[in-house]
Amino acid sequence: MPSGLRSFLALLVLLLGLAGKAFGEDGKIRVLTSIPPLYCWAVNVAGDLATVENLLPADVGPHDYQFKPKDLKRLQAADLIVLNGLGLEEWFTRAIQANAMDAERKVIHIADGLLETNLIFHLPTLELDPGKPGKEQGHEHDHGPRTRDSGPGTDHDLANPHLWQDPQLAMHGVTNILLALQRIDPALAAGYQRNATAYLSRLAALDTEIRQAVAGFSSRTVVTYHDAFPYFCRRYGIDLAGVIEQVPGSDPSPRYLAELLKVIRARKVKVIFTEPQFNPRLAKRLADDLGIAVAELDVLETGALSPDSYEDGLRRNLRVLQQYLK
Ligand SMILES: [Zn+2]
Repeated sequence: MPSGLRSFLALLVLLLGLAGKAFGEDGKIRVLTSIPPLYCWAVNVAGDLATVENLLPADVGPHDYQFKPKDLKRLQAADLIVLNGLGLEEWFTRAIQANAMDAERKVIHIADGLLETNLIFHLPTLELDPGKPGKEQGHEHDHGPRTRDSGPGTDHDLANPHLWQDPQLAMHGVTNILLALQRIDPALAAGYQRNATAYLSRLAALDTEIRQAVAGFSSRTVVTYHDAFPYFCRRYGIDLAGVIEQVPGSDPSPRYLAELLKVIRARKVKVIFTEPQFNPRLAKRLADDLGIAVAELDVLETGALSPDSYEDGLRRNLRVLQQYLK
């Protein structure tokens, strides 16, 4: 082989090798997440070994996200896309189908590995039942139409997607992110493991802290605005008596509200929890009629992005619960 060709081939191999190794301009893996809790988990596992960005702006929740053309570039540039799954990110599936993108191969779901378990809440809709406190109930939550062919993580129709409200399911999500980063970037596997181990122990401490606080509550029955807290309630033995917005985005029927009022009275619910993402008008009117309190819990679907914001958000919610249920 002529030496010119040989050195050309050597250069080509070198360039291809570099192209294979270098992820972003700084050589780091680029991770794209869908909502703030997932951003927090990914950024803690990544540390300074990978860069993490959140796709949705801080003030727009996954319920009403409108996918923008500039998002396509970010999907293309990402090495790993972390979605929740369970139908939360239907706009993602629609966008990549509409644009014939192959971004799906870069996607992992927090829900991966949970679908086979009995941990996911499904239909039927939360049944209002004034007679049976503490009954385990199914919860329906519509984050948009779900179809069986709308991609991985969505093949359980009408599953409740709000996994991140349970710190132990969060730990499952952190582990999914860790395994994906180690698979894509094996040279840094030990570093990702160290970061994840440190973060998982923080989440375990948070879980213990919430459990101990809730154990001291005198009242454990709550009504929330939309059906975002069944995982949290199940984890800590809080009795979710009902939700105001039976179908997210549409006002509940008068008949449903009358039933809910009955449940609230029968179960001696002391407070209705609204959410910063929703107009509290209806909850306030109900609470006024009943002479009970209104307070705000954060679903964490929007908000500031920092490594601590997931833990901070759950602690904020815990303080609110303590104030009204202790
Ligand atoms: Zn939601």
